[in-house]
Amino acid sequence: MAQAGNSELVDLFEQFFRNYYDNEIKQLAQRYPNEQRSLHVDWQDLYTFDHNLADDFLNKPEQLQQYAEEALRLYDLPIDVSLGQAHVRIRNLPETESPEIREIRAPDMNSLVQVHGIVRKATDVRPKIEEAAFECQLCGTLTRVPQSSGDFQEPHECQGCERQGPFRVNFDQSEFVDSQKLRIQESPEGLRGGETPQSLDVHVEDDITGEVTPGDHVSATGVLRLEQQGDNQDKSPVFDFYMEGMSVDIDEEQFEDMDITGEDKEEIVRLSSSEDIYDKMIASIAPSIYGYNQEKLAMILQLFSGVTKQLPDGSRIRGDLHMLLIGDPGTGKSQMLGYIQNIAPRSVYTSGKGSSSAGLTAAAVRDDFGDGQQWTLEAGALVLADQGIAAVDELDKMRSEDRSAMHEALEQQKISVSKAGINATLKSRCSLLGAANPKYGRFDQYEPIGEQIDLEPALISRFDLIFTVTDQPDEEKDRNLAEHIITTNYAGELTTQREEMSSLDVSDAEIDEMTEQVDPEIDAELLRKYIAYAKQNCHPRMTDEAQATIRDFYVDLRSRGTDEDAAVPVTARKLEALVRLAEASARVRLSDTVEQRDAERSVEIVRSCLQDIGVDPETGEFDADIVEAGTSKSQRDRIKNLKGLISDIEEEYDDGAPVDIVLERAEEVGMDHSKAEHEIDKLKQKGEVYEPSTDTLRTT
Ligand code: ADP
Ligand code: MG
Repeated sequence: MAQAGNSELVDLFEQFFRNYYDNEIKQLAQRYPNEQRSLHVDWQDLYTFDHNLADDFLNKPEQLQQYAEEALRLYDLPIDVSLGQAHVRIRNLPETESPEIREIRAPDMNSLVQVHGIVRKATDVRPKIEEAAFECQLCGTLTRVPQSSGDFQEPHECQGCERQGPFRVNFDQSEFVDSQKLRIQESPEGLRGGETPQSLDVHVEDDITGEVTPGDHVSATGVLRLEQQGDNQDKSPVFDFYMEGMSVDIDEEQFEDMDITGEDKEEIVRLSSSEDIYDKMIASIAPSIYGYNQEKLAMILQLFSGVTKQLPDGSRIRGDLHMLLIGDPGTGKSQMLGYIQNIAPRSVYTSGKGSSSAGLTAAAVRDDFGDGQQWTLEAGALVLADQGIAAVDELDKMRSEDRSAMHEALEQQKISVSKAGINATLKSRCSLLGAANPKYGRFDQYEPIGEQIDLEPALISRFDLIFTVTDQPDEEKDRNLAEHIITTNYAGELTTQREEMSSLDVSDAEIDEMTEQVDPEIDAELLRKYIAYAKQNCHPRMTDEAQATIRDFYVDLRSRGTDEDAAVPVTARKLEALVRLAEASARVRLSDTVEQRDAERSVEIVRSCLQDIGVDPETGEFDADIVEAGTSKSQRDRIKNLKGLISDIEEEYDDGAPVDIVLERAEEVGMDHSKAEHEIDKLKQKGEVYEPSTDTLRTT
């Protein structure tokens, strides 16, 4: 019951409801209680109705919510239904009450705020007891004990016989409510320069549980509360914030924090029509890294990405490009990956090992985020990067749990988790930019790539582009690289000196000239906006000429494999990669059509990648099997031959084929010593030959 004086507030809410929410309340009454139990109120409506009332709601949310719910119970309804337990849930607070999670401070306690972020973790939905009915085992009287958060409270004595039990909880007579805990983390796009995202836990109850999944971008409105750190034995004087959630809404907007002003737009359109836009773009990616123009161009295309296609039959073809850099250590891979964060509108940078228990994909875990018993679903990097780019360094070090989930994540762009009663599908519509080292640390140019990287062939084949980066001495290149790195460092030294020292023997003009050389062509902030703008506004389609260019290239490549003995050169997966790259290339120009030049650009990149990796190192021919199956054709032949050779020799010797004889004969048929040893090791690993005694071999 509202107290005197407060009944005015209840009246005020009633009036507000009559003016603004009459239809909604009637609808609620019809659906109550099974289909709907809440009236969602837009704070802006309340503000329009009465500024003071709306402001009061922000400062004293708990009381005001009670008045509002009281007004709802008293509301005059045409049908005979009581809205006894219906909630009033407020949403859409003003900007001023919408702090960044990292900005929440002590004075915010107990006030109503709204935060934006991405759901990182969510527990199972579980019933929580609100009021427990204890039945006395001696006299049968029920004693009701309300349960606030914290420990489970038992009665001191029975309300009937006044003895101390024993008691039994009567579930039918107790009151339960569904409850769930969510962890909301700052959105990747809100973070600049690799800040660590902060998070806030949100407790939700009743009808708003189970409505969001990890990876969803949400706005959560609720009251900030405090929870003491430490456990019962060891309480800390420091508290943590959590939010008692009133409403949690999914944000559909793609790039929340991106304000593209009219001026920005003019600048973007002007840039897009410049002759050398592609060169400008290349010069804007990791300018401190020398060379890698193909790789940088591919990264640009990846940022713009192809068009996601919805097919008439309801299926979908991804537009996102996945790209992998494999290479020798110290070749700038990590640097380039790290730079992506500066220019991608939404990105997540992580290492293959992953920084959380969810790793790269997702995990169902039982940890103290719940109460230790409850299962929690946690989103990993590829889910957090949904609709953006996931830059994953040291991809070859990824955890085995992730390996199996990666195939689905990369091709279907979703991740299914089915464990311990949790069945969920998380979205991971992102592009993966991975970096990896070869298996033995450095590249061996004479071995196929599939063998040198610790990723299984099925996964490798998901990548649209694979670049290999080798670090071999080359005098001219080394000189240029040295020049570039020294200039970059010198420019950095000058900038530091200008900031730190009062007198300097170099003029500002000279410093500017030096730094000019290592500045990005297009400023990172503008480039971010450019990419976001293009992705939102530009959905190109192929011209006939572009289609023909790609088709011809593909058919030509395939035809090299028609020779009976030749390996199949390229598979249809490459065709989709070609289309995506060409679309991305059109987007860079903000063009709605994919021109022939775009298709040619795409062909050039794919050709150079294929040359890097798809070429059979022994025959010089393209061999898609290297990429897609992990062994080249000549290699398969060689293994077959070697096994045949061993079995021939085996017949001549009673105790099995001596290894030195095998190596000798192998050399006679043109396979060098080390290669043959390598192949023998592989046959042994596969269990196709074994060693009955030292230095002899037998086939199985
Ligand atoms: P990786 O991840 O490939 O092992 P890093 O990105 O950590 O290598 O690079 C090692 C260092 O070498 C970095 O400081 C980087 O700036 C420098 N470096 C390597 N290659 C280049 C290059 N092509 N241009 C400029 N700097 C380079
Ligand atoms: Mg590295």
